[in-house]
Amino acid sequence: MKTFLFLIILSVSLFSKVDINLSHTKIKNGTTFAVILQSDQFLSQAPNVIFKNKTYQMFTINGSMKKYRVFLPVDYYSKKQKENVQVRYLINGKLNKNNFKIDIIDGDYKKNEIIKVAKGKVTLSKKSKSRSNKEYKTVYSNVYSKITLYDLTLNSSFTDPMKSKITSAFGNARIYNGTTKSYHTGTDYRAKVGTNIYASNNGVVALVMDRFYLGKVVYIDHGRGAYSYYSHMSDFLVKKGQVVKKGEVIGKSGKTGRITGPHLHYAFRLYNITVDPLQYAKLYNKIIKKYQ
Ligand SMILES: [Zn+2]
Repeated sequence: MKTFLFLIILSVSLFSKVDINLSHTKIKNGTTFAVILQSDQFLSQAPNVIFKNKTYQMFTINGSMKKYRVFLPVDYYSKKQKENVQVRYLINGKLNKNNFKIDIIDGDYKKNEIIKVAKGKVTLSKKSKSRSNKEYKTVYSNVYSKITLYDLTLNSSFTDPMKSKITSAFGNARIYNGTTKSYHTGTDYRAKVGTNIYASNNGVVALVMDRFYLGKVVYIDHGRGAYSYYSHMSDFLVKKGQVVKKGEVIGKSGKTGRITGPHLHYAFRLYNITVDPLQYAKLYNKIIKKYQ
């Protein structure tokens, strides 16, 4: 009997099946991909993924200890090359390491979008520089350095922050006042001052602030390292720490900060890396539907 039991346990461990899927084999700079792990037995520890020298914890799907997922950001300035994605998980005390390759390709974003703004918003005075640096520290300590382990979206899909024409897409290479080079870190929606802005998903307001470049901005924590933010607002309708529901009005659009005219700049950070907010939403919605 003992031998029989032993054989059963042995065969379970020998033939335990683990399926790992990556959402992409090729991925554009400035976007997000997902790693999904499905096992036929419970994992006693959440698996990890190592990508570009960073370790990311995977999270259970709907609380199942057999299914895990993680969304990983690819920095806009990433080299266009093949990168290793290593998935690590424990089965019966044995550490398994599975390696995958992902090809980082050029996002083929629009080149040379020329923007004219107030001089003082490009060449910063000492005072503005110090203000801008100070602001970043506040945002970093209150928002980007924090990873909420829970899924604050409650497995809900993302929606648009506003139904309006997109006037400038994420990723456009930008030249400010003929000199300063940068790229567009979000998606711009045409909006008259006072237009409603909606939370793109469930979450918690991580910070409400008036910033040098972004003007009045609301940061929403969606959990697991994902934050959306909404800038150049005229009015805030939420407070820090407030729980918000998808589609809830969080403020009114405006023309505060570094701006050429009133609009909504909607942006997204994942583990403190800026990613295309609409590509993230599309991928997230697909993954939560496909793996339940
Ligand atoms: Zn913008």
